[in-house]
Parts: sequence; C-alpha cells; structure tokens
Amino acid sequence: APIAAPITGAIHGTPEQEAYLEKIVKQFTITPDYLEKICTHFMSEMDKGLNKEGQTLAMIPSYVEGRLTGQEKGHFLALDLGGTNLRVVLVTLEGNGKYKTKSSKARVTTELKTGPMRDLCDYIADCVDEFLTEEGLSNTDTTLFLGYTFSFPVLQSRINRGILKSWTKGFNCTGAVGKDPVMLLQDALLRKNVPIKVAALVNDAVGTLLSNAYQKPNTSIGLILGTGSNGGYIEEIKKIGKWKSNENPTSHEMIINMEFGAFDNERMILPVTQYDNKVDRQSINPHGQIFEKMISGMYLGEITRNILLDMIDRELLFGPQEGRYDCKSWSKELSGHYAFVTSQMSTIESDGTPELTRTKEALDLNLNLHAISTPESKIIKRVCEAVGTRAAHLAGVAIAGIVRHCEISPEEGTDVGIDGSLYEFYPSFEERIYDALAILLPDHKNVRKTVRLGLAKDGSGVGAALTACVAAHMEGRKKG
Ligand code: BGC
Ligand code: MG
Repeated sequence: APIAAPITGAIHGTPEQEAYLEKIVKQFTITPDYLEKICTHFMSEMDKGLNKEGQTLAMIPSYVEGRLTGQEKGHFLALDLGGTNLRVVLVTLEGNGKYKTKSSKARVTTELKTGPMRDLCDYIADCVDEFLTEEGLSNTDTTLFLGYTFSFPVLQSRINRGILKSWTKGFNCTGAVGKDPVMLLQDALLRKNVPIKVAALVNDAVGTLLSNAYQKPNTSIGLILGTGSNGGYIEEIKKIGKWKSNENPTSHEMIINMEFGAFDNERMILPVTQYDNKVDRQSINPHGQIFEKMISGMYLGEITRNILLDMIDRELLFGPQEGRYDCKSWSKELSGHYAFVTSQMSTIESDGTPELTRTKEALDLNLNLHAISTPESKIIKRVCEAVGTRAAHLAGVAIAGIVRHCEISPEEGTDVGIDGSLYEFYPSFEERIYDALAILLPDHKNVRKTVRLGLAKDGSGVGAALTACVAAHMEGRKKG
C-alpha cells in the first residue's frame, strides 16, 4: 500500500481556521489510555456475545469447524456478493496451499441493492448461468457445488442455512430480512434451471480467514477492511457458551463471525463525534453499525465531507478570495451525499508535493473545487489524516481485542488475513494499525513479527470455495 505523507511544518491558515482545525483533530485523536479502555470493552462484549443470543457483538458460529491444512483439493464454484461487486469464481484447489481462480465480475446497481430481493437473486442466477456457459460448464450432468459469500449479518443454523438479520453498507432489498439467503438464491437458480447446489454460506470475514489459512496454516484471524468491516477468528467450542447444538462437532474449534461492525451500537464507549452522528442519521441504517461507520471505506469520505461542510458553514473554508468567488455557490458537488469518496482521501494523504498540487488537482477534477489555496489544501489533508488514522486505530483495537481474548502469546503468534480496499489501498493504514497494536499488545515486543497482518486478496471468493470444500469434509467425517 502507498505511504501517507503527513504535513510537516506550519499550515499558514488564519488563527480561526487553525484553532477550529485543532479542535476537530483533537476529537478524532484517541489517546493510548482511551484505546485501552475501548479494547477492554470490546473484549467484554465478545464474551457477552459468545454466551448469549441477541447481543450487540453477535459472535455468530459459522458452522465451519476445524482448520485447513493447505492440502485440500478439488474444483469449487464460489459466489461473492460484497459491498460493491458480484463475482462468480471457479476455484481449483491444487493442494500445497496453491489454488487457481477464474472469475467474472458484475456491478450491483443501486437499483438492485434497494429493490426486491427476488430481482437481485434473479440477477445473480443470470450471472452464474452466463459464467457457466462461458467456462463450458453448463452442460455437465452433475450438479456443481457452490460456496456463497454473503457479506451481511446472517444468523446461521447450518453450514448452508441462516436468517438475514439486517442489511448494511447501503443494501436495502425488500423481502430478505428474516429470510434465508441460501433458499432465496437456490429458488432463483431453480427458476432458471441453473444446475447448482448452494452447499455453503459464508461471511466474507470467515472466508478471508479460510483463504489465508490455506496458504498460511497459522492463521487464526480474518478481517475485512473495505466498503464495510468485520472480523472472524477461530474459537474453542467450549468457550461458546450459547452453543447448544446436539450435533457432534467434528472438531473442538469453530470459526466465529463476529459482526463487529455493530460494536457499541449503544454508544457506551466509542468517541462518536457530531460528524459521525450526521453520517449515521443520514444512512440507510441509522443507529446500526456504528463501529463500521467509523472504520470503513463506505463512510470515511462522508465523515470528511461533513467536517468540510461544517468548516464552510463557519466561513472557515473556501471563503471569498482573489481569483474566485464564494464557495457556497461554487461547489454544488460537495453538497452531494457521499460525494467525497474515500479513494479521494487516499490521493490526498499520499500527496507529498510541497504545495499539495495533486490534492488541488483531484479536488478540482472530482468536486469542482477550484483555486483552492495551499493552506486550505493542508487543512483538508489534515482532516483526512485525522479521520483515516482514527479508523486504523479502531481497527487495531478490534485485532488486539481478538489476540488478547484468544491469549495468543508472542511465542505462538498468528497470521491475520485481511481483505478489502481500505487495507489494500489507503496510505499507511497498516502502519497505523500497528501503532495501535504496539500500544494494546505490550507483551508483543515485536508486534510485526508476532501479529502478522497480510493481504488476503480476493479472500472472500476463495474462502467460499474452501467452505464448500470444508462442508464436504465435515459431511465425510460425520458419516465416517
Ligand atoms: C457486514 C458483515 C461483513 C462486512 C464486510 C458488514 O457490513 O455486516 O457481515 O462481513 O460488512 O463486508
Ligand atoms: Mg469483498
């Protein structure tokens, strides 16, 4: 990932600008003591969720038991419905931790995201059908097995059964909450005569853990830091107090889908600002996913935009200046909901030019903000830095909370597979996570060596195929 180029030296704004900026930055800065407090709360919420149904941290058993060895083999189909795209993937597991993938990608339009669920499922079924035709797999006599990565909170009751709790990340299809996403998809496939059996349902965080584990068997944590955010980890079944399955587990371990985006929805501990409140209120799911809204790609740009609007309203930004007229009339664009996208922050944060030329160009091009002064650009950059750093530090809290909960010692260590655009592309995101980990995991003297974060690219797709594979293994073990 690129590296952030923090502002060095003075900003040279007016005293009013600088004072207000400082106030904002302060609200977004979490002290080491406070990070520790959030982390402690996070851990107690984990315990609550493991022991009782219906808690804020849902801590959902994924029904994926045991670990992978990297020796698994076979062809599997995967479907990945993420925050932005739909991908159909044919995964060939070759053993030795190696795999090959072939995939196709389709966009999920706002219309599909917010229309009837039946339409979305029909669309998905069509995409699968097309992919099978392209790959010459549509005329086989045998039914293919598919792993479905469904990146939303689903209370699972089996490896391929569950109930959608709520939508997140801007999805809001009707006729889906309270229903089983697998059945809805299976029905659509049947309607269209697509010869596929949906054999496994997997959350993307769980899938990412699995795909990382296939290559690095010492993986016990998977994370999504992208459009949305979430974590999964390997738990001992005896620590899952609410687990009452009569089924004999095939292993003493199970992967938990934490659904940590909902952490502290009751706002007991998170340093929620007025800007976060505004983003939350104007979202499709107010009062939901508070932690996610402070961490993920879908929202960081929107938080930043709200800060800039506040400064504009206080006449601290884009005031009348030689060579331009008052901004309140000249960036209509900036007033648009979600107009300031998080990738814009990446551009700004990595801009190391002395006059922030690239920042100015990007803002002009994308938001019609022209003739921005250098002090103004620096203010914007500083705001991005504050919002982006808080996100990474909070992501660090979650990782540290899991490591501490699982009592992963420095000697043992763990690999952590992470998928998502924020982790992959946001400047210094990983660096900043490590800054928080160094504070929260003092026993890990060399935390980079013992908590090894790494990109699990396309983890969610490959993970779904691996889950289909695990499902087959679990079947086999239970029968045998
Ligand atoms: C969903 C999770 C998902 C995460 C990352 C969240 O909004 O609730 O299920 O894992 O996004 O995609
Ligand atoms: Mg994804």
